[in-house]
Parts: sequence; structure tokens; C-alpha cells
Amino acid sequence: MSDKRTFSFEFFPPKTAEGIAKLRTTRQQLAQFRPQFFSVTFGAGGTTRDGTLSTVLEIRAEGHAAAPHLSCIGSTRENIRAILEEYRSHGIRHIVALRGDIPSGMVEAGEFRYANELVAFIRAEHGDHFHIEVAAYPEFHPQARSAEDDLNNFVRKVQAGADSAITQYFFNADAYFRFVDEVQARGVDIPIVPGIMPISNFGQLCRFSDMCGAEVPRWLRQRMQAYMDDTASIRALGLDVVTELCDRLLAGGAPGLHFYTLNSAGLVSTVWQRLGL
Ligand SMILES: Cc1cc2nc3c(=O)[nH]c(=O)nc-3n(C[C@H](O)[C@H](O)[C@H](O)COP(=O)(O)OP(=O)(O)OC[C@H]3O[C@@H](n4cnc5c(N)ncnc54)[C@H](O)[C@@H]3O)c2cc1C
Repeated sequence: MSDKRTFSFEFFPPKTAEGIAKLRTTRQQLAQFRPQFFSVTFGAGGTTRDGTLSTVLEIRAEGHAAAPHLSCIGSTRENIRAILEEYRSHGIRHIVALRGDIPSGMVEAGEFRYANELVAFIRAEHGDHFHIEVAAYPEFHPQARSAEDDLNNFVRKVQAGADSAITQYFFNADAYFRFVDEVQARGVDIPIVPGIMPISNFGQLCRFSDMCGAEVPRWLRQRMQAYMDDTASIRALGLDVVTELCDRLLAGGAPGLHFYTLNSAGLVSTVWQRLGL
């Protein structure tokens, strides 16, 4: 039986020669799992524009599929038009389209306010050339006025022309299944692939989760905090929790998994092997 599920790994563009070398090694390790694609994030306001493209091109030169992210906040239509043309001139056909967050110090929101406007712009300018992924939030985006509003805004992105979606990470599988049911009830039929965050630095994960609206369950916080500096136990519990989550998601029909690798292969490889993918 052929496996139609989509598995992918996300990187951020490294800034130093050391980071670039480390990412090459990470890629070699993860490429053996034959993901459908690697994706590379894009700093809001265009801060990593060159790094995103050069990382994508390096991955493609190694013979793997790669999708750049593109965030529109703080940009003009001209900026975005130029980036899309540049991507297209390199033969790129797969994009993760996002609003992004206004970087501190940047005042102008730019000409795009929401991701649905970016998706519509890409479709208007390039027709079906790009496969467009968008972001989804099973636990809802932190700035959403209400859960209902956020669901409708997600549907808007799909109606604007998104082909598939990747979710923010979460640790509660029910939130994902309910989100999928609710958007399907609103007519959405694109694949919504769960984003998976391996647990490495737990303190950092909690701080980041508070900002991006992902919930770290109380029982997990309590257990992790009790481990104090015992990094081996933190790693072991983190691996168990994330592997069980992936197992449950795939068993429940999730159309694949997208791993936030943070440019490291170790934890993701262990989860992958445990899942027997
Ligand atoms: C898979 C994934 C990859 C990511 N990669 C990057 C990256 O590379 N670079 C980066 O900077 N950030 C990235 N992010 C973070 C993302 O940019 C932020 O979460 C950002 O705050 C929202 O982006 P969005 O595309 O989901 O925005 P939107 O879909 O525009 O939603 C943002 C908020 O506005 C509301 N909204 C949406 N449309 C409308 C509308 N038409 N009218 C009124 N309200 C509306 C929504 O309910 C939500 O609260 C990523 C997130 C995910 C899940």
C-alpha cells in the first residue's frame, strides 16, 4: 500500500558558518527518512530573506525538495512581488505563506494585514504555479478575537487558494481533531498536517508556548519541573510524550507530520524511529 501521508522537516536559516555546517549534518541525517520536503523559515519583515533562499537552494542542490516560508507583515506588494519572482526564477514551486509578526522596532504593518491577503496575491500573480501551505492553530491564534473568528479566518485562507496547512505545535491531540472537524464542517477539504515540536529545553519551550498560544499541559509542566537539572529524565519523558502524540495523531487519520527540528536531528530521529515510519 502506498503511503500518501506527508512528512516534512522545518529549519531556520543559520546565521553563522558554524550554524550552516551544523545544519548540513542535520540534513544528511534527516534526509535518510525521505521526507516529502524540508521547509525554511523566513524572518518577519524580510530579515532572513537571503538566508532563507540560500538554505532552500542548498537543500535543492543536494537533491531534496525544499519550500521557503514567506511572511508578509511589514512588506509592500512590490517587495513580495520581487521575492515571488526570485523564488520562481529558481524553479521553486512550494511556499509556506504567513502573515508573520511585526518585529520589535518596526512600526509599519505594510500593505498586507493578514495571510489570506498574501495567499490571494500569490494566486492572482502566479496562478497555480505555487503549492501554497498556510498556518493553522488547533488551540487558536493568540490574537484571535474568539475561537469562532479564528476558525472563520482559517477558512478565509483556504478560500483564498491554500492547498494544504501545517499547524502550530500542540500537545493535546483532541484540540487538533476538533479543529479539523470544525473546519471540515465549514467546507475545508485540504490536508491539515500537525506541526510537532520535540521537547529539548523545557524552560524555553514553556516561555515560547506562552507567547505563541500553545498549551503545555499542567501535568507535564509539573513533572518536568520536578526533574530540575536531570536532563536525561526530561529528554526521556519528552520523547515519550511526543512519540505518543504522533502515534495518536497518525492513528486518528492525520495526513502526515511536520517536525519543527530547531536545526537538530537527534530528538526528531528518535521519535521517527520509535514511530516505525
Ligand atoms: C507552520 C508555521 C510556520 C511558521 N513560519 C513562520 C516563518 O517562517 N516566519 C514568521 O515570521 N512566522 C512564522 N510563523 C508564525 C506566524 O507568522 C505567526 O503565528 C503569526 O502571528 C500569524 O501568522 P498567520 O499566517 O497564521 O496569520 P493570519 O492567518 O493572518 O492570522 C493572524 C491573526 O489574524 C486573524 N485574522 C486572519 N485573517 C483575518 C482577517 N481577514 N480579518 C481579521 N482577522 C484576521 C487570525 O484569526 C489570527 O488571530 C509560522 C507559524 C506556523 C504555524
